Amino acid sequence: MMATIIWLGERDTIGREGAIVRKHNPLSERVFRKKNPTMKFFCPLCGTERSFSLKPRLTHKNYIQIAVTSLFLTVCLFPLIKVAAFFVLFVVWGLGEFAVRTLFRKEIPCPHCGFDASWYKRDVKMAQSKVKEFWKEKGYFEEAEEVDRPPIQ
Ligand SMILES: [Zn+2]
Repeated sequence: MMATIIWLGERDTIGREGAIVRKHNPLSERVFRKKNPTMKFFCPLCGTERSFSLKPRLTHKNYIQIAVTSLFLTVCLFPLIKVAAFFVLFVVWGLGEFAVRTLFRKEIPCPHCGFDASWYKRDVKMAQSKVKEFWKEKGYFEEAEEVDRPPIQ
């Protein structure tokens, strides 16, 4: 009798009648690994390993950048607008916050299946159409539109 060796993945289990149940079946096994990821996770839709390289909040480095930029602008603008130049800090801070959030939001959609968790949280229907759009751009989903149309009388 010959013995067969089957490698089981971390998340795989043996089901009834000895069948292997693959718990983790990602769409893509080969993913681009980021250098210093701030968060590692699996895409909830396609199961592909993903990571973020940015944080949605300002980091210590960002605060220093904001402080230095506003100090420089305050010094430059003080002869022109006097005390109002101190409010430059709030403008720069707001812009920095906006920039960080915008850059982070760009990272959210899954590059493998188009799932956008931020849209899913706000509007599930919109998240669904975003995924559909993603696959349409890749050249799939042609037939799905046909199905949605009412039958010809
Ligand atoms: Zn995905």
